[in-house]
Amino acid sequence: MSSRFTSISSKVTVMIIMASSLFALLTMLIQLLWNYLGAVGNARNEIHGYSELILPTLAQALWDVDRSLQQDLLSGMEQMPNVGSVELASRDGVYIKLGGEAQLGSQAQPGSEAQRGGESRRSADAVAEPVVLAVNYEGERIATLTIALDRSEIYSTLWHQMVPLLLGNALKTLAMAFVILYLLKHLIMKRLLALSSFADAVGLSEGARAVPALQLDRKNDEIGQVASALEAMYRRIRGDWALIRQQQRKLALRGRALSHTVERQDDMLKWMAQANQLLAEVSLRFLKASATDSAAELGFFTENLGQMLAVERVAVMEFGDGRVSYRGFWSPEPDAMPARDLLIDNLPALHHKFGQTRTVVIEDVEQICDSDPLEYRYLKQVGITSVAGFAITDGDTLLGVLAVSNLTAPLCWSPEKSAILTQFAAALNELWLRERREQRMLELQQELMRVNVKLAEEAVTDALTGLSNRRPFVERLSAEIFRTGALLMIDVDFFKRYNDSYGHLAGDDVLKRLAQLLKETLPKNALPARIGGEEFAVVIPGMDAEALTLLCRDLLDAVRILAIPHQGSHLGHVSLSIGAVSLEHCSSVRDAMGKADASLYLAKEQGRNTAVVNGSLSVLTVRQAD
Ligand code: GH3
Ligand code: MG
Ligand code: MG
Repeated sequence: MSSRFTSISSKVTVMIIMASSLFALLTMLIQLLWNYLGAVGNARNEIHGYSELILPTLAQALWDVDRSLQQDLLSGMEQMPNVGSVELASRDGVYIKLGGEAQLGSQAQPGSEAQRGGESRRSADAVAEPVVLAVNYEGERIATLTIALDRSEIYSTLWHQMVPLLLGNALKTLAMAFVILYLLKHLIMKRLLALSSFADAVGLSEGARAVPALQLDRKNDEIGQVASALEAMYRRIRGDWALIRQQQRKLALRGRALSHTVERQDDMLKWMAQANQLLAEVSLRFLKASATDSAAELGFFTENLGQMLAVERVAVMEFGDGRVSYRGFWSPEPDAMPARDLLIDNLPALHHKFGQTRTVVIEDVEQICDSDPLEYRYLKQVGITSVAGFAITDGDTLLGVLAVSNLTAPLCWSPEKSAILTQFAAALNELWLRERREQRMLELQQELMRVNVKLAEEAVTDALTGLSNRRPFVERLSAEIFRTGALLMIDVDFFKRYNDSYGHLAGDDVLKRLAQLLKETLPKNALPARIGGEEFAVVIPGMDAEALTLLCRDLLDAVRILAIPHQGSHLGHVSLSIGAVSLEHCSSVRDAMGKADASLYLAKEQGRNTAVVNGSLSVLTVRQAD
């Protein structure tokens, strides 16, 4: 920019010098003109002054026709400076001309050619026109005196004046040009150069460097205004530039944040895919798990979850019956153990907490020091610094808690982790519900089996006495037909009377006691049964007739010894009547039952308290004496 200024400066210098020269020339010409006019005026004044002196004398000389005097007077005038010629023309025809062209012998009459020549010169130079004076004698004009100026002399004078004028003006011009250039340089160019330096110095690539100081007088003139405008413009540009840089920085930051977000999202998506894969695998394992033993699946779940989340503890706690049990626990430390007792102590607090919210995330345990002192104390006791817990619920029922925790560092939790952990908690809930359902089913099955057994027992057992009832008895009897064995039909004597005397309940007791007696007295392989109101039947495999007779006697003796009072019996105590048959002689159940019944009938007929063994076949009657 300064080179351009140098070029402009050279042009301005030339223009100033030219303008100054022109001005000096004009000044010189005007001064010359002024001097010329001054010289002409002075000459005319002097001519007028001298004429006033000589005119009366000249008039007298004309009057006296004194040519010599006339000549002298006119010569004196002609000798005056700047006088070119003197011409006298009288009324009487005197004509004298001294100097100039007339001296060449012009004897023209006044107003003739010489006079016309003067007029033509007047037109050429109106300024230096001749002085025409009237020569009066006694009030009458007798002649005309014409005095022409000597221009060449005036010009010569002017010429001689022109040299110093020229030198003076040249010096003046130089001085003026010098002054102008000096002023231009010091007042304008210097400031313009400062502006140029400022413009050169400023730039947008210097970063946040301050605006350079403008080395320029802040005058309130055009250059000052330009400087201020330039500075203001530069500041505006700097401001805009700073704004652009700021926006660029913001954009760069935003770009970095976006790429960071994209990376994070990408990582999160990968993590989510991994988590969902684990969730699917865990859910499948839970489905396949045995309802009674899911420890292996829970171990797999806690270990994989802990490794995936890179946490220091994973715990699956189950609540029930006022206590908590660890269904799963994992830690990278092999000997780490869950804090069982503390949890049991804090079970109500845990219930309360997870009753209010399904998810509890505590990134830094110190933050809950004031808000939840109970939890804070508990977590500090077990050394946990950061924990995320998820309720395992069945509707409103809190079944347990899935908790991941760290002892040293924060968990760096996120909503995505909460979402996936909630699903893991739901999977655990499903597992436990299935476990509980299957446990309940198992219990129901066992209960059903018990009921069935009971029903089956009841179906074959007499409720009052606990002996077999008719159906199994008949089946057993059927199996023993044609084999060595015995069938006994036993009936309580006068039992109606007993009921009448002692009441029905007392009668029931008698029946029970008799049943007990049968069980105690009969051989082990015997099957006693109650087949009617107060009627019993017994099938005894492998018993021959002799043993049967002895058994019948033993039974009657045993009842006698039992000595249940019976006022309706002539014996005074309860007694039995027995009809017994050996099965090898019987062709069917009906046959055997019929024969035994017939023997019983015989025993009754014999007076009761009697046993008839094979009555219809061998007529063996056993009569127990009182
Ligand atoms: P007998 O010596 O001829 O057998 O006379 P008995 O009275 O025993 O014979 P009966 O057939 O006339 O009467 C049977 C009685 O047994 C009638 C009934 O009151 C009684 N009895 C039947 N079942 C039960 C029972 O389950 N409990 C009680 N307490 N009594 C019963
Ligand atoms: Mg009977
Ligand atoms: Mg009876």
